[in-house]
Amino acid sequence: MTSSIASGSADRSGFVGAADIGATKTLVTVRAWPVEAWALGSSEVVRLATDRDPWRMVARLADELTRLAIAGGAVRGRLDAVGLAAPGPLDPTSGVIHHSPNLGWRDVPISGPLKRLLGVPIVLDDDARTGALGEARLGAGRGRATVAYVTLGSGVGGGIIMDGRLHRGAHNVAGEVGHLSVDPTGPRCGCGRRGCVEAFVGGSSLARRARGMWPSARTADGTPAPRDAAEVFRAARAGDPAAGALVDEAVEALGFAAIGAVLDPDLIVVGGSIGLSQRRFVRRAVTVGRQRCLAQTGRALTVVPAALGRESVLAGAAVTAWETLPASRREAL
Ligand SMILES: [Zn+2]
Repeated sequence: MTSSIASGSADRSGFVGAADIGATKTLVTVRAWPVEAWALGSSEVVRLATDRDPWRMVARLADELTRLAIAGGAVRGRLDAVGLAAPGPLDPTSGVIHHSPNLGWRDVPISGPLKRLLGVPIVLDDDARTGALGEARLGAGRGRATVAYVTLGSGVGGGIIMDGRLHRGAHNVAGEVGHLSVDPTGPRCGCGRRGCVEAFVGGSSLARRARGMWPSARTADGTPAPRDAAEVFRAARAGDPAAGALVDEAVEALGFAAIGAVLDPDLIVVGGSIGLSQRRFVRRAVTVGRQRCLAQTGRALTVVPAALGRESVLAGAAVTAWETLPASRREAL
């Protein structure tokens, strides 16, 4: 191994585990702390298929984290803490994933069983909030006081860093920009309401809208119609007017102006599969956002891609685990 684990000397015993549990795949890693930088694509990052059975998944996570800890040099494979990130809604305090449509899990108290297997503190948090923390501490937002993180993928999520700390809000949903309603008569959103940002921008919504627009799966000229978000963006670039209209609506809906107006951030960091791959779309939304802010916010509205790419959430989970340790433990390292 070449990165931070290898750099951990034998007398340093500070290791944290992290897992980003996604709909189809789960990323797992173990890191020695403190890390000065997050090396992308490191051999320390292992990909597992996400198991539909949460209890089998817990056992696999425990096995993999222990294996990585031993490989990294942790004494008896013992970690100090583990950070987990998963799609919500979930309760960070009780460690329960309530109902995650993406995972097909309902009321899974994931932290308890994993804690019993590993014998260390387990910290669970929403993946978007965790991604915000990862980018703020180790990625594009490093050194900035106020950072908004927006993830554009199958859904739309976000997190807010204020004065360097994750801002959770009174009900633990601060930063949920995906469910900002921009058109109460707009398309139905996964949350049950209409016209949320996610209903226009989320990959699942775009795919659903494409199926509605081309029910025969053929465009007007007889070619195969777009069936997913990437194909909608591709067809729009190729000049298909109907696909272009869906993308135009997504540009209008994205809501960077609302983030600018409410938060006046140093930086907006954009991640997620659509955010990272559809850069032209994001740039168009930034232009619209700047036009709709107060001049002093709009001129300064800075939107950048997530520096940690698809590992923002994993890095954030490692940060979460580290920050949960007592200061005395951290300072001893
Ligand atoms: Zn919604």
